[in-house]
Amino acid sequence: MKIGLVTYKPEFVEGFEPHVYYSKWADGQVFPAAVGMQNDITVFCDAKAIREDPSIVAVSDSGPALRRNRRSNLPFDFVCPTHPGYRAKVLQYIESVAEKDVAGVTLNLYHFPDQEYCTCPRCTELRQKSGLDWTEWRAKTVTNFLKEAKAKVKGTFAVELFPDPVLSKERFGIDLDAICGLVDYLHVPLSSRDYLTNYWVDLITRDFIAIFKKPVMVELSAEMPTDEKLDALLKTVAYLSRHKLDAVLLLVHDSENAKNIAKFAVQNSDFQGWLEKYDFKEMSRIVDNWAKLY
Ligand SMILES: [Zn+2]
Repeated sequence: MKIGLVTYKPEFVEGFEPHVYYSKWADGQVFPAAVGMQNDITVFCDAKAIREDPSIVAVSDSGPALRRNRRSNLPFDFVCPTHPGYRAKVLQYIESVAEKDVAGVTLNLYHFPDQEYCTCPRCTELRQKSGLDWTEWRAKTVTNFLKEAKAKVKGTFAVELFPDPVLSKERFGIDLDAICGLVDYLHVPLSSRDYLTNYWVDLITRDFIAIFKKPVMVELSAEMPTDEKLDALLKTVAYLSRHKLDAVLLLVHDSENAKNIAKFAVQNSDFQGWLEKYDFKEMSRIVDNWAKLY
């Protein structure tokens, strides 16, 4: 199992691979491509673009796809996935990143906000013309967008996915079978403030490994301020290392944050003893490798 990073700064850190860098954020900020890294691009969540042109937002019978619309429980503000101008702009950005010397491109939030979206006149007309039902049309719309995006990417092509292995198609238009044919791997964020309770991480990871026929990477939040939380994070990674997981990706603030995690593991003989006692061979290998560097 590999152990990599997800960062907001394009800094390589020894002992971690792959490096995933957020080059376009859900607030609408865009950054130059990070050379040599997997560049992660937020597609249809763009608060800035919606502020500039509110007409592009996805809509439903219960209102617009905005965080402030409490009739939906949305983590971000979503643009309608069929808006031609926005689609062209974001595809152009994907192309501009992919043509640099990057490892590849990961897309996130490239789908419908939720099951009841989008009922704008354009989506309504497109669906009627397609002859498909609501679920199939929405899934096809998302899959076709991913095909267009993939055609612009030369390196590794991946997507992020909400950790829902059951209702992804009905709710978000994410057809896992279709996506399996398009991507090199799947990136599943399992974000939390801490992993003091971690059974659910193990459980969801095993679900995705069982149903997805391509490599799976799981992202854990690693901006951990206390020793207790760091210890729980590393033990969670150890449990994950027992499965056929391609990589654990740690979301960190910066390179210092990442180095501190490695140092914590290297300097912690209790943790290493725990790994040895319960035979976590793969995690011990990762810590041994860190010990050569930190
Ligand atoms: Zn729409």
